[in-house]
Amino acid sequence: MVKHISHIGIAVKDLETGIAFYEKLGLKLEAIEEVPSQKVKVAFFPCGDTRIELLAPTAEDSPIAKFIEKKGEGIQHIAFAVDNLPQGLEKAQEEGILLIDKEPRPGAHGADIAFLHPKSTLGVLIELCKEKH
Ligand code: ZN
Repeated sequence: MVKHISHIGIAVKDLETGIAFYEKLGLKLEAIEEVPSQKVKVAFFPCGDTRIELLAPTAEDSPIAKFIEKKGEGIQHIAFAVDNLPQGLEKAQEEGILLIDKEPRPGAHGADIAFLHPKSTLGVLIELCKEKH
């Protein structure tokens, strides 16, 4: 059901610092977007078929702020692109994988997203993502 890696989500304390670092690697900033429902600001860097997605908290109770508090900055999630998200979630459930999101919800970049529970994914926070491009 998975097509390719849509993006890799990386938690950073400060978006500008994160952007400056990835620009040093030669990646080009595509867009910055705020996702109020997740209390994050997101910066996208296309990298081949995938994107680096920097996630910076916009509030202290943001899930990203909590992640950084617990684990520090670094890779927060991996997003796999799927053709059909509701079907993908159904399939995951059939396989006995726990879901954080039972229904798709709007993510950054106009995509529909849903997270699988890291308890049933060997510790990796996995997002399934129906891209809109
Ligand atoms: Zn994501």
